[in-house]
Amino acid sequence: MHDRIARLRTAMAERGHDAFVSLSPPANAYLAGFFGSTSAVMVTADQADFFCDFRYTEQAAQQVGALTVREVSGSLETRAGEHLKSLGVSRVGFDPAATTVQQRMVLEEAYGGTLRPDTDLPGLLRQVKDPDEIARLRAASALKEGVLAECLPLLRAGLTERAFAARLEFALKEHGASKVSFDPIVLFGARSSLPHGMPGEKPLEHGDIVLIDFGCIRDGYCSDLTRTYAFGTIPGAWFEEIYAVTLAAQEAALEAVRPGVAARDVDAVARAIIGEAGYGDHFGHGLGHGVGLEIHEGPRLNQQATGTLAPGMVVTVEPGIYLPGRGGVRIEDLVVVTESGCERLTQTPKTLKVLSS
Ligand code: ZN
Ligand code: ZN
Repeated sequence: MHDRIARLRTAMAERGHDAFVSLSPPANAYLAGFFGSTSAVMVTADQADFFCDFRYTEQAAQQVGALTVREVSGSLETRAGEHLKSLGVSRVGFDPAATTVQQRMVLEEAYGGTLRPDTDLPGLLRQVKDPDEIARLRAASALKEGVLAECLPLLRAGLTERAFAARLEFALKEHGASKVSFDPIVLFGARSSLPHGMPGEKPLEHGDIVLIDFGCIRDGYCSDLTRTYAFGTIPGAWFEEIYAVTLAAQEAALEAVRPGVAARDVDAVARAIIGEAGYGDHFGHGLGHGVGLEIHEGPRLNQQATGTLAPGMVVTVEPGIYLPGRGGVRIEDLVVVTESGCERLTQTPKTLKVLSS
């Protein structure tokens, strides 16, 4: 954590902040090592303080290193604002994307001044993972892959999307996940054209597409995986075609992932292949996203992305083609950017698989 506070201080100096205040659970997990829901972290050039209430004092004593821990009572925002005032700092940065309007109002009232919005901190620092974080992401990724392999044989005609999603969740926790990284997406048949559809009462039928997008949190870090299958028999040549195009786009994009490449250009590689095949209008989301303490974090791999990939970044590569009323395909791997390219953290095969019914 010393290193992370030091990197934050360097970034603060570059941006002209005398202090930085964070109330965000994932940011405070990163900066202080604290995995609770309510805390405040305040960092200046020579001081790093952590505030929590009575509920978290024992946990903070176990988890928080490199910061001075103090138990406070009453409003956490008020105590944090008062502390900033007592430090006499005049330029205090905060992340407006991770602070509610209410929290900001209370902070500013107690501090007696205006805070400086900075959406890049500490998110920018979190984009490049250290070896410990990569080890945790690798473990979270392996866990969910084991669960997928274990649960796929349970798919049988009549099982509903919701029931299978519940089986996945149960198995994830059984194998050591603290929770799901997002509600599992399990879609059968034509419903697979809903990119983020919610599992429902649709029963699995012979000839259905099976789209599964899920992941877990283990040791604080998230994982994310999508595979698309056919159940019993391939629904038609059209499905084989969109599967092949999606896979070609995904493999080409994986080839393009390396240090120094613009995130936007990796998206463009996949988008060009899908576009040339005539399905450009059916790939309406970005190619991928960073994964870490949060399931969606920087860097983004999409058409608007401005960043460049660097070693240690962990991102998904997940193109898809969605044909309304017929069905869809998405194939998603998690990769870590290396010095020369990328390493797939996902081992689950991607050749079109027909699950036995
Ligand atoms: Zn996913
Ligand atoms: Zn994803």
